[in-house]
Amino acid sequence: MSTARTCSAGFTLVLVVSLLVLVPPAAAGGIRAIADANAPSSANGIRVIENSVEHSFAQHVTFTLEASSDAEISEVYLFFRAIHDEATEKKRVSLEDPSQDVSLEVRHDAMRYPLPPFAEITYWWQITNAAGQELKTPPQQFTYHDNRFSWDRLSGDGITIHWMTGDGDPAFAQTALDIARASVRDIEAELRGSKPDPLEVFIYDSEANLQGAMVLTGRDWVAGQARPELGVVVVAVPEAQGYTSRMKRYLPHEITHLLLYELVTPNGYTYVPTWLNEGLATANERLPTPEYALVLEKARRAGELIPLEDLCVPFSPDAQTATLSYAQSGSLVSFIREEHGAQGIRQLLAAYADGASCKSGVEEGLGVTFRELEADWQMSLNPDSGWRTLLDKVGLWIVVPIIGLLLAVPMMGGLRRRSKELPTEGEGAELKRVS
Ligand SMILES: [Zn+2]
Repeated sequence: MSTARTCSAGFTLVLVVSLLVLVPPAAAGGIRAIADANAPSSANGIRVIENSVEHSFAQHVTFTLEASSDAEISEVYLFFRAIHDEATEKKRVSLEDPSQDVSLEVRHDAMRYPLPPFAEITYWWQITNAAGQELKTPPQQFTYHDNRFSWDRLSGDGITIHWMTGDGDPAFAQTALDIARASVRDIEAELRGSKPDPLEVFIYDSEANLQGAMVLTGRDWVAGQARPELGVVVVAVPEAQGYTSRMKRYLPHEITHLLLYELVTPNGYTYVPTWLNEGLATANERLPTPEYALVLEKARRAGELIPLEDLCVPFSPDAQTATLSYAQSGSLVSFIREEHGAQGIRQLLAAYADGASCKSGVEEGLGVTFRELEADWQMSLNPDSGWRTLLDKVGLWIVVPIIGLLLAVPMMGGLRRRSKELPTEGEGAELKRVS
C-alpha cells in the first residue's frame, strides 16, 4: 500500500491550553484506543495524562493528547503511519500560548485523505518543553476497521468471517467459512504455499456499503476486493437467495490473491502479470461465471480477443473490457493447467517472483514463447481444435476412419451439446464480480 496523501491539509487542530478538554463521545460505532497502561507516561519532567485515538471510518481519525510538564511545553508533534506505508504522516502542533499543561486534539480528515481500510495504524507523539527536555510516547497501534457497522464473526482454522449484524445468520457465516476453508485447501495444494495468518473476510450486505471499504475508484461493477498485504478480503454478498453461489465465486477468487501474495512475497507480487494473477483467481472460482464463456466465445468469433500483451498490466476499468479480460485470463490459466499441470503454474510463478518480465516469465516457466502460448491457447478455443490436436498426435491414418464412423451416427449430439454449454443471455446478465 503506498497511497500518497498530503499530510497537513488533512488535519484540523483543536487546542486548548491549561484546560481539560472534554473529548466528545465517539461517533456512532466509533472506537477509542486508550494508551497502553504499561507504557511510560512520563520522562524528563513531562507527563502524559491522556493519549488516545478514535475514528469514524471514512470520516475522521481524532488523536487526543493531554500532558503536563515542569516547564512550559513548547513543541508537540504527532506522527502516524499505516502498516506497509513507507511514508510517515507528521503534524507539528502549533502552541500559540505555551503552558505547562496542554490538552489537544488533532483530527485527520479521512474523507479527503483516506487511510487504507482495515490497516493497522501506528502513532506516537513527541513533546518538548522550554527546558529542552523531551518525551517521545511509545508507538501505539489501532486498527482502522469499518466501524460504520457492527459485525458478527465466526472463526475456524485461522480464518475469520465477519458479517454485518442483521444481514446473515450463523448458517450464512458457516457457509462462508466452509467455502473459504475449502478454497484455501485447494489453492494451497496447487501453489504449495500457505495462507496469511490471520485471514479475515468481511462480508458486506451491498455493493454500496462495500464501496467505502475499497481503494478502487471508477469501478462500480466490483463486488469484492483483496488486500493481500493485510490478509483481508472484502466482498458484497447480501443474505438473499443465491448467496451460496456468490460466495463460491467471490471467496475463492479473492483468497487466491492473498495466497499468491504470500507465495511470491510482496516484492515478487509486483512482477506477477495481471493475466496470471486474475486468471488464477478466476479459474479458482468454485462456480464459474457464465458470462465469461459467453463473452469469450463472442470475442473469438468476432476476432476481437484482447492481445495477451495488453493483459500483462492492470485491466481496463471499463466494465465490458474488464469482463473480457477476466474471461480470457481465466481461460488461459485453465489451458496452462491442462497443458503444463500445477507444476507449470508453480514454475511460472517462480519465474515472476524472480523478477521475470511478462514475456520472459512464460519462456522460463513453461518453455514456450509468449507468442506460442497465446497462439496455442487461441487454437484451443476453436471448436475444431480437438480434431486438430488429435490429428497432430495420432496422424491422419487413424483419424479418418473415426470420422467416417461418426458420420454414420445420426447427427444428434454435437451441436445440441455445445449450445447447452453456453449460457443464455439471461444467465450471462450477471455483471457484478470481484476484482
Ligand atoms: Zn481479482
